[in-house]
Amino acid sequence: MHQVGGVFLEKLLNADAGDHRGSRIPCGQGHEAAFVDYRIKQVTTVLSEIGIKRAYYHCQKCGKGLIPKDKDLDLENTSFSPGVRRMMARVGAKESFEDGRSDSRKNWPMWWSPSRR
Ligand SMILES: [Zn+2]
Repeated sequence: MHQVGGVFLEKLLNADAGDHRGSRIPCGQGHEAAFVDYRIKQVTTVLSEIGIKRAYYHCQKCGKGLIPKDKDLDLENTSFSPGVRRMMARVGAKESFEDGRSDSRKNWPMWWSPSRR
């Protein structure tokens, strides 16, 4: 079931054929970045792992690669979809809550065990 949804999502996200925006695009620093090739990124989504095809550009003056589609999809420097990152953040918040509770238990034993006075 999830796998099917993942295949559908993969098709949807690749419907733009990699989001090619011409042979040259502004790099954001006042230069032009040249199209190099297409790169496939494996992304973990809430449905399944999918491959996303993205046009890769490179600015010679900055010496940096540029993938506009990653920016649009909020996938820069990560291979987890925004939905998965939200789920991970929720788990992280729960863990820190647990940590905080055990800390206060250590610092205030009388609060946590009322029998010991
Ligand atoms: Zn540049």
